[in-house]
This record gives sequence, structure tokens and C-alpha cells, in this order.
Amino acid sequence: MALLQISEPGQSAAPHQQRLAAGIDLGTTNSLVAAVRSGVVDTLPDGEGRHLLPSVVRFGAEGTVVGEAAKAAAAEDPLNTIASVKRLIGRGLADVERLGGRLPYKFVHTDAAVPRLRTRAGDFSPVEVSAEILRVLAARAESALGGTLSGVVITVPAYFDEAQRQATKDAARLAGLEVFRLLNEPTAAAVAYGLDRNADGIHAVYDLGGGTFDISILRLRRGVFEVLATGGDSALGGDDLDRTVARWIMERAGIEDDASHGILRRLLGDACAAKEALSTADRASLRIARPDGAHWAGELDRATFDALADPLITRTITACRRCLRDAGLRPDAVQELVMVGGSTRMPRVRERVGELFGATPLVELDPDRVVAIGAALQANILAGNRGDEDLLLLDVIPLSLGLETMGGLVEKIIPRNTTIPVARAQEFTTFKDGQTAMAVHVLQGERELVAHCRSLARFELRGIPPMVAGAARIRVSFEVDADGLLQVTATEQSSGVEAQVEVKPSHGLTDGEIESMLRDSMDRAGEDLAARRLRERRVEAERTLAALRAALAKDGEALLDAAERDRVEAALSWLETTAAGTDPEAIRTAVEALEKTCDFYVERRMNRSIRAAMAGHKIEEFE
Ligand code: AMP
Repeated sequence: MALLQISEPGQSAAPHQQRLAAGIDLGTTNSLVAAVRSGVVDTLPDGEGRHLLPSVVRFGAEGTVVGEAAKAAAAEDPLNTIASVKRLIGRGLADVERLGGRLPYKFVHTDAAVPRLRTRAGDFSPVEVSAEILRVLAARAESALGGTLSGVVITVPAYFDEAQRQATKDAARLAGLEVFRLLNEPTAAAVAYGLDRNADGIHAVYDLGGGTFDISILRLRRGVFEVLATGGDSALGGDDLDRTVARWIMERAGIEDDASHGILRRLLGDACAAKEALSTADRASLRIARPDGAHWAGELDRATFDALADPLITRTITACRRCLRDAGLRPDAVQELVMVGGSTRMPRVRERVGELFGATPLVELDPDRVVAIGAALQANILAGNRGDEDLLLLDVIPLSLGLETMGGLVEKIIPRNTTIPVARAQEFTTFKDGQTAMAVHVLQGERELVAHCRSLARFELRGIPPMVAGAARIRVSFEVDADGLLQVTATEQSSGVEAQVEVKPSHGLTDGEIESMLRDSMDRAGEDLAARRLRERRVEAERTLAALRAALAKDGEALLDAAERDRVEAALSWLETTAAGTDPEAIRTAVEALEKTCDFYVERRMNRSIRAAMAGHKIEEFE
């Protein structure tokens, strides 16, 4: 007799099949992989118990090495040892050239928009180098979990643009990994603290690492996270404090700032050790070898150190306030404060940031691992292992996305800090009679003029049926998916002809550049507005002139006598002259004057076309 397996409705008779998944924090300096095992989430160590994998790849004579061994070889073999590849991923030649001076690598400039790094093992793109790091992390996860990964969640900085996100996905694909989703780093940190299970509210994620500072304001509503705003400073972190402390030591020890001795560089290690010790101790003792061979012994106490750290902390607080302003919130709106990054171990940082937000900072999780942990939790859900819990994470776009319109102006389609995924559309029309093609120029930035924004892509919509100017209806839609990738589609409504582009710009932006673009747009708002008004008036003048010239060519002879024609021509050339000037009000007056002068001509044209339309018909037919 066959045994029947009986199960309750909704429950599987077979033991629940877990799909293996991991979360990866692909960092500039170090990377981590984490996973949920038997319901417990943690980062996964290598065979020697190390959780952090230095993000360094060495193309050695005996093959490729990733991690500690590669890092150790960086000094002796700099050309073949690639570190900080995250700074290059998704970047184009121009950016790399700018960074190039500071990087020891040899770049090969091919036709491709993406630069390649020349090593003894061949030329590699940043995507290929990143794939090497991902491969090692994935292998670590597969051996820890005992099977093949069904997919991963990879975290990226909130300021990563479309190209940088796409390149990160490409690297994962190259490493043979399925990417469930890219996740913004601050969002991952909030998930690690389980804030998704909290009641609705506003949370802040403060991330202070070695070289960068990021602040993000998140809103949780009905179990859904939304990033309301992001901000920060790409050149601010614990490393700055090491320099401050090193200078303090030099002053105390009476050491001259003499670069030839490289003394400052040597002191940085001592300064960093003292700084880290002061996170748990009240004082740190110092013993320094002076350039003259003598030793200096001294002590740095917590109060002195805090005073040294305060200016740096103040800069982060200023950035926090700016970010809150962007989100339209006051500091006391923030309920939970998540701390990320090694430098948040400093008690003074916790104290001052806690004060600003009026919240006790969340510090229970290791600030270096919290992002990977959140990614692992999210990967576990997306793998379908927690089917009953649905978590949708939303992020924001850092800079407005828009289109070029007539006169070199930018029409914003999706404003910055809009949560993604998002789709927005706007209708445009043709400028000239019989126009059959339209150029679509996609831009990123806050300024009013095309010249001051960043060009992301250009494409053409062809095959528009010829119509009079202004009759065609061209719908341009912008769609940004959950990973921050932008697709722009232009459709002519009557014929359905369509063209589209997926934006993978050939170069990226650092968050510092984003910040300076934002600052520019605020500083120059008045100037921009004046420039926009002038351009708009010029476009209006050109449109009026073009329509009038077309009309004159068609029936000017038939409908106007010589004196009338002279009057119209005079008004026309007056507008031409004024439009070449820089006074928007004068242009408007000239347009109005021309329209007034031509009123009788427009009326005659209308009468004539009505007569033409009615020819052969009885008047009653039109009633
Ligand atoms: P991250 O970039 O997040 O790995 O952070 C690295 C920075 O955190 C470096 O500047 C470290 O010196 C700093 N850091 C690590 N541990 C501590 C600590 N206990 N106290 C203060 N700073 C620390």
C-alpha cells in the first residue's frame, strides 16, 4: 500500500528547499560577503578567519591573486596590482585621465569608451578586475554554504550613476553571478538593523569611513523604504584625523615639517593607532622617533583628541543639515540613527551626531560589516526564502534628469531626489513645418543651460510624418528602474514611430562632483534664470520670424501691396536685430510689435483660407 503524504494547506510536505543567496559589500578598500545560515546572518570569513577581503587584484606571473596577498605585493609590483578599482568602474576616459595622475597604473586607450589597464597578463577593464574580486567572494560563500548561489545582492554607493551601476552588474555577470538587485549602501545598513520591521518613520544613516562621508535620510512607510535624500563629502574621513593628530604630534615633539624626511607619512601610523585606542581608552601614550634619532614620548588624552576631531565632525554635521533640508525635514523628525563606517566608533562622533538628531545612535552591529549584513538579509528575501515578507527598497536619483529643448535649455523630466523606480513622460512637438526627425539629448544636472549640465546620451527619432510646426505630438518618457538604470523612449503619437536609448554614459561622477554641481546650481540660480529668460525669448522670436517668412513666401505677393510689405519687412528686421541682442524684455516688445503690425495680414490669410475651404459649397453646409 502506498503511503500518502498529507500536508496542511499552504504547507509543503517536502522540507522547505532553501535557495542559496549572499550579500556582497563591494568596497573601494575592502569587500565583504555575508549570508543567512540557519536563520542567522553574518559575514563569512576566509579559510584563515579573515572577514575583510582587500579589494586588490594582482595579475602575477603565476596567475591572478586577490586580497591580502595582492595587497602585500602592491608596493613591489604596482603596475600589475590593481587597488581601488571601484573608483574606475563605469568611468570613461576623461574621468580616468583626471584620476590617472594619482594612480600608478598604465592605461590603454582603445576605441572603446572604457579604458583598460595594461598588466603583464594582458589588458583588463575595471569591470573585469571587479569580476575577479566578486569571484573570490562568491567562491567563499559557496564553500561556506555548501552549494551554488542562486543569486546575490551587491551594494553600491547611493551616488553611483547609471553607468557605474550597470558596470557593477556587468562585473557580476562576468563572474557568473545572478544579481537579484543592486542596493544602496545606506539602505542595506538600515535593513541590517531590522528597521523595516519598525513602525512608519524617518531614519538617518551616517556613514563615516576612512576617506568618505555619506549621510542618507530614509523614510519607512507601510514596510517600504524610501531614500528621501542623500549627501556627504567624498574627501572627508578618518584619514583626515590621522593627519590632524600627526601634525599635533609634530608640534608637540618639536619636529619641523620637512617633507624630505617623509616624517608626516611615518607619523600617520602612530596617529591612527592613538586615534583608534582613544575610542575605548581615556588616554593614549605615544613614543616617536624624531628625524634626529632622539625619541619623544608624550600622551594624547581624550579631551584634547576630541577638540582636534571637532572641526571634522562639524563638517559632517553641516552636511547632515543640508541633507535634511533637501528632504524637507527638521533633525527631530529622525527616529533611528544608524552608524556605519569605522570612524563611527569614535565616542565624540556618536555624541555629536546623536545630539543633532536627538537620537541614540544604533551601534550594536560592527560598523564595517553592517552593509554586507543588510545585503545578505535582502538577498535571502529575494531568493524566496522568506516568501511571506515582502520588502521593497526604494532609492533616489542624485541629480535631475532632463532633455535639451530649443535654445540650449534643459527641461527637467525627473527632479533630483525622486525615488526610484520612477517613470515620467512629457510631450514635445516639432519646431519647423515638415520636420521629420527630432534629436533627443538626455542630460543630468541642476543648471538651466545645456552647456552647464552633463550629457548622458543623444539619439534621433526619425520617420515623423511631415506636419506643420507644432502639430506633431512626441511623447518622451524617462524610466529609471530599481537599479537606477535609465531608459529614454521617444514616440510620435499619430504614427507610433519610436526610438529609445538605454543610458550607459561613458563616464561617471564622484559624489564630490555631484555636490559641486548642486552648489553651482544654487550659487548661480539668479544668473541661470536670466539666461533662461533670454533664451526663451529668442526661441519665441525665431518661431515668429520663421512662421512669418514662410507666410510671406507663400502669399505675401498676393495679399499685400508694396507699402504693406515694407511695413511688415521693417517690423521683421527690427525683431531680427533685437533678437540678436541680450535684453529679453526688448525681444518680447519686438515680438508683440511684429504681431500687431501683422494683425491685418493674418486676418487676410484667414479669410482667404476660409474662402478656399468654402469654395464650391453653400454657406448653409457650414452652419
Ligand atoms: P572604513 O572605511 O569604514 O573601513 O573605516 C576606516 C576608518 O575607520 C579608518 O580611518 C580607521 O582609522 C577608522 N577606525 C577604525 N576603527 C576605529 C576606532 N576604533 N576608532 C576610531 N576610528 C576607527
